[in-house]
Amino acid sequence: MEYGDRYQHIPRPQYDCLLFDVDDTLYPLNSGLSKEVTNNIIEYMINKLGIKDKVTELNFQLYKDYGTTMAGLKAIGYDFDYDDFHSFVHGRLPYEILKPDPVLKSLLQSLPVRKVIFSNANEEHVANVLSRLGLEDCFDEVISFETLNPMEKTNLLDDENDVNSNGSKQRPVLRSEINVFDTETNVEVPKTPVVCKPFEAAFEHAFKMANIDPQRTLFFDDSIRNLETAKLMGLHTVLVGSSHKAKGVDYALESIHNIREALPELWESIKMTEEVCYAEAVAIETQVRA
Ligand SMILES: [Mg+2]
Repeated sequence: MEYGDRYQHIPRPQYDCLLFDVDDTLYPLNSGLSKEVTNNIIEYMINKLGIKDKVTELNFQLYKDYGTTMAGLKAIGYDFDYDDFHSFVHGRLPYEILKPDPVLKSLLQSLPVRKVIFSNANEEHVANVLSRLGLEDCFDEVISFETLNPMEKTNLLDDENDVNSNGSKQRPVLRSEINVFDTETNVEVPKTPVVCKPFEAAFEHAFKMANIDPQRTLFFDDSIRNLETAKLMGLHTVLVGSSHKAKGVDYALESIHNIREALPELWESIKMTEEVCYAEAVAIETQVRA
């Protein structure tokens, strides 16, 4: 047997990275935490931004069009500080409603595959959620709002854009502004400076930052829209929170706890790798003895 033949058929696991959303993916929607987030966003829109009319509808529409309400509010011209928004919306959350999840912890720890978080939320929120769930040691890397949106002055096109001819301040234009289309009418809506899922730019950024090969990565998220982009970007996709598959979805899980039942191959591939290693070890040992 030629050496080439001997090595080219060695099987290897299908995935070398598992990529996870956090909110409503690592814990269930019915925990109530997301409802609290929505209430805080609405309060921010009313009290901090002075929006009075149809606030709930606007929040829903912006979330649908832009992936996060924050990205939508920036797009339609509201000027606010990202940290102020995050501390108002996440800083007052009743994180204690999330309980430690030893079952999920043990599932994750039994998979010797690199695990990366990919969330639109800020770093502090992600850390708080993971800590409450007892999963803080289960992930190798975290991609969060701050990773996707580093606040560098060099991103600005031109400082002069900050001031109108009448001297008033306007929203700065960023080089990375993203074209956005209404999900139903496909009509272009104002661009956003915020990089977040479901936009391709967010996925491209995450792949680069975490050195991810999408063809060899399995992505878990509760948002169909995020999964649609993910599929287009070459990722393998898992919908969490519903057992009904949709466009762009390879697997659908009612709960993240069903991962072993729905994807036994994740564990089988590990077994397969161990068997291959064992077979190789026996072959080497036999050669040495001979
Ligand atoms: Mg989510």
